[in-house]
Amino acid sequence: MSTGPITVGILGAGQLGRMLALAGYPLGLRFRFFDPNPESPARDLAPLTVASFDDSSALAAFAQSVDILTLEFENIPVIALEIVQKLRPLAPCPQALEISQDRLYEKNLCQALKIPTPANIAVETKEQLLQAVQEIGFPCVLKTRRLGYDGKGQKIIRAREQVDTAFQALAGSPLILEAFIPFTREVSQIIARNKQGEIAYYPLSQNVHRDGILWNTIAPAPDAAALIPQAQDYTTRIARKLQYTGVLAVEYFVHNGELIFNEMAPRVHNSGHWTIEGANCSQFENHVRAVCGLPLGNPNERGAARMFNILSTLPDTERMLAIPGAHVHLYGKAERPGRKLGHVTLCEQNAAQADELARQVESLLK
Ligand code: AMP
Repeated sequence: MSTGPITVGILGAGQLGRMLALAGYPLGLRFRFFDPNPESPARDLAPLTVASFDDSSALAAFAQSVDILTLEFENIPVIALEIVQKLRPLAPCPQALEISQDRLYEKNLCQALKIPTPANIAVETKEQLLQAVQEIGFPCVLKTRRLGYDGKGQKIIRAREQVDTAFQALAGSPLILEAFIPFTREVSQIIARNKQGEIAYYPLSQNVHRDGILWNTIAPAPDAAALIPQAQDYTTRIARKLQYTGVLAVEYFVHNGELIFNEMAPRVHNSGHWTIEGANCSQFENHVRAVCGLPLGNPNERGAARMFNILSTLPDTERMLAIPGAHVHLYGKAERPGRKLGHVTLCEQNAAQADELARQVESLLK
């Protein structure tokens, strides 16, 4: 397939879409975006259709204006995907989204694939919650099944007195109660799978969250040799079951040296931003390659990478750029508490050098 004339339509025009286009332009591809927000981070990169994901005629017109379709946001209504899929090839498939939109469906899939998850029970009423708390024990985590992200829509319950407050905070939507996993660390496995079923496995990333939001990624994850076969195996099971095309990210807790599934994202992932400078072929380029039916690129690392999210407020960009090897990415968003405004990546010859520069980056982000 020639890459020249292909136009890729991306549903969602956030920073992930922006980085997909930035990775796809060198391949001669063209892009178009669809997003309800006219101020979306990808707005300056390609034509943007501003319309709601409920607007079926806008969705149809958008699909007809492109050659193939993908997405950068997992909470697109499945019905919107079904509309566009009738008109143009879409990857990943609506089923992958449907499952990843609901924490209960994700866990049911894992159970069917024999992938360990935290013990969990779906709950809707207070009585069901009290019963579930008895079965799971303390501490436990109450989460909304749908539309939770960056730690939003979840409450840790450590004692009986906290049950009512947690329920009141989240009641009104279907919920899931999970056992709290006293993990030693969190890791994510990102893969790219093409239509032929070939898979490129990125090195395992180690992730540190603050208030439920990703703060820092270390890649490759240190001392992770024993975890890699399990991470690749579990993630492959999910991708094969869903006949997945594109980049898939799965987050795991590490507990007693074993992986426990936390959640999956049917898209490029924040814990893979380091791959832009830190891997031979980034997650963004490999996603574009996969959905366009092109051969996958080499996912291996080029060095020891560290990625820091720029959250809430922007740092002094000039001072950040003065740090040797600091790659600064800004998404063109206004400052707001908890918002992801950009990220900074380092990729050094060894971990000691990366850690030394990481201290300098961190000092500008505090
Ligand atoms: P999530 O949105 O489910 O990825 O949750 C955000 C963060 O909250 C995770 O990355 C963990 O740090 C923490 N967390 C979520 N669920 C659990 C759990 N069952 N046990 C321990 N920590 C959790």
